[in-house]
Amino acid sequence: MYAEVLIEYNSKAVDKTFTYIVPEALISKIKKGMKVRVPFTNKIINGFIVNILPSYTSEYDLKEIESIVDEYLVLNEEMLKLGSYLQEKTLCTKIAAYQTMLPSSLKVKDKKQKDYSKYLEYIELIADGNTIKEYINKHKTAKKQIEAINILKIERQLKSSISPSVVKALKEENLITIVKEQIYRINKKEKEEEKITLSKEQENVLNAIDLTKQDTYLIHGVTGSGKTEVYMQLIDRVIKKGKNAIMLVPEISLTTQIINKFYDRFGNDVAIFHSALSDGEKYDEYLKIYRKEVHIVIGTRSAIFTPLDNLGIIIIDEEHSDTYKQDSNPRYHAIDMAIFRSKYHNIPLILGSATPSLETMARALKGVYKYLEMKKRIGSAILPKVDIVDMSIELKKRNVIFSSLLKEKIKERLEKKEQIILLLNRRGYSTVVTCKNCGYTYTCPYCDIALTYHKSTNNLRCHYCGYTVIKSDMCPECQEKSLDDRGLGTEKLEQELKKEFPNSRVIRMDTDTTRNKGSHEDIINHFKNHDYDILLGTQMISKGLDFPLVTLVGIINADTTLNMPDFRSAERTFSLLNQVSGRAGRSGLLGEVILQTFNPDNFTLSCVKTNDYMRFYTHEMSNRHKLNYPPYYYITSIKIASKEYELASKEILKVKRYLDSNLSKETIILGPSTAAVFKINNIYRFQIIIKYKREPALNNALKKLDEIYMNNSKVNIEIDNNPLHV
Ligand code: ADP
Ligand code: ZN
Repeated sequence: MYAEVLIEYNSKAVDKTFTYIVPEALISKIKKGMKVRVPFTNKIINGFIVNILPSYTSEYDLKEIESIVDEYLVLNEEMLKLGSYLQEKTLCTKIAAYQTMLPSSLKVKDKKQKDYSKYLEYIELIADGNTIKEYINKHKTAKKQIEAINILKIERQLKSSISPSVVKALKEENLITIVKEQIYRINKKEKEEEKITLSKEQENVLNAIDLTKQDTYLIHGVTGSGKTEVYMQLIDRVIKKGKNAIMLVPEISLTTQIINKFYDRFGNDVAIFHSALSDGEKYDEYLKIYRKEVHIVIGTRSAIFTPLDNLGIIIIDEEHSDTYKQDSNPRYHAIDMAIFRSKYHNIPLILGSATPSLETMARALKGVYKYLEMKKRIGSAILPKVDIVDMSIELKKRNVIFSSLLKEKIKERLEKKEQIILLLNRRGYSTVVTCKNCGYTYTCPYCDIALTYHKSTNNLRCHYCGYTVIKSDMCPECQEKSLDDRGLGTEKLEQELKKEFPNSRVIRMDTDTTRNKGSHEDIINHFKNHDYDILLGTQMISKGLDFPLVTLVGIINADTTLNMPDFRSAERTFSLLNQVSGRAGRSGLLGEVILQTFNPDNFTLSCVKTNDYMRFYTHEMSNRHKLNYPPYYYITSIKIASKEYELASKEILKVKRYLDSNLSKETIILGPSTAAVFKINNIYRFQIIIKYKREPALNNALKKLDEIYMNNSKVNIEIDNNPLHV
């Protein structure tokens, strides 16, 4: 028997299969899609079996497969096909596609596969009654041994609970045995039966979804309309039919609450996947799937690849989230993968959001997706009232961070023992540090970006490459003590908040406070328990969270996202502000939102104020139409990157000429220009944007370009279909 093996060698030049002999001992075990170790050049490396051949003739001496990496690691037929689709969509290598589809802990490099299994060891009494009696009679003085025996007569005990010397003594007499039992790190919780009466809107949505065939549905439901409950009802129906479900959520900060809801409802029928799990935890969760012990998988983006078979539904919550697109290779979008899988299984795909992406909404209105709407909040809860505050007027009153209105409202909530969420979409202490004397600004030597000051560590950091420098008292340029920091980050906001409201309990959630494992969860649980009055943070706190006591949301500076130079900045702003506003007043207590801005007349903000998605959508669509942007046009971005400035600028011109002569006249080719951040990590980046409605020649042209730079060590090409940022 022979096997064609795709080897794990991440260079496009060897992205092909090699044939190996399957040794006698492995013949019964080997399967298509299995990960194996094979000799290649002078090393032993990993590979995937993509085909099994009964016979094969070759003029070369073939080598043998060395071993199987893990019998659980099998990409089934569907996964192998999905891999090809992923490759076609993103132009990545085949091997990169398959690697993406397996959890990272299981991606071994050149080491032997590590055993991630976790065990508990128990002691069990095995001797019969007579033997035990005899032993006790003979060892009357061995108090500890006898005590242990008496305990073990009732039930087995954890090995760690009995002293090693006692264990040794009893074992020598063959009275006990040690049982090793594999356990899961993330453990089952008890189900809670809960009686829920669905709202009319929830009923209608549920009844409109046909579980027996493929269709993509958009559930457009305002914040707090009870979408999560709809997802759980759908999944419940699917499980009752004996099928499985995958649900994607955008970020870990969000998973805590949703996962708890699912544990409460479905008990241990849930496996979870996100980047904050340890390798061991991931391994365990994967095992639950392989052993068919769970019907439900909840996870972030890459969970769309979980090898659950017999799928009955796929749900993507907060479908508009940027996190569903991977921003490194392979640049896939989870929705594309979900559509592929839902077609493969002939099952519904559910996209849910309060603020659907324009692309999704356009498809829903055209009938490509089925449109379902939920307009009202659950029960007596109503959408919060939004007030826009003009910060230029406040500045004249010397209110730099908090407007009078926001201060007053915060005070009021603190007195009423209600909770507050404050959004500031910028971490760190201040945004720039400059010298008042000579004008020097701290910038990153490797990237063209200003450094952000972090006060707690007294250093300045580059948020792109991580470069860090200690802040000195004097200006590094003119040596005067005249450094000044401007701009506001979450760290400074926290400090100012404590100054302004000394008796309030404040907790901050951003990338800097959530580096440790479990810290997301801690913050959310503490806030939920009302150990804190105010939760402040970056966009991390904007989505999905459900705290009944939150009645005030303050948006400290609505302009940070509004002013981004990107055609999607209005859409992102609307979605972020609408989502964060949606955290207020979810339980029947009236919610209020104070939105601070220097652009009080801005159209997007006025739509946030009236919570009018359709008004925003219509207006923004007409902008996109005028400027030939998605969803009217598709976009592909091509970046050329090199350490050598001259070389990069020369190559990007070549790319431009190639595209000009190979693509049709109707296709718009913009650039070359410098990329939004021109230099990152000392690498210069130029970019070309291609806009097209239909361009049959594009895929071939991109493949050609990719091939040209494949083995060029000085110039890198980065192709991104439907980029999120341009
Ligand atoms: P969304 O995901 O649409 O923002 P959620 O699903 O979080 O909204 O629901 C908002 C709140 O309403 C949650 O606290 C949820 O438990 C509750 N809820 C949802 N459906 C019902 C229902 N039918 N009856 C009572 N409470 C419900
Ligand atoms: Zn940098």
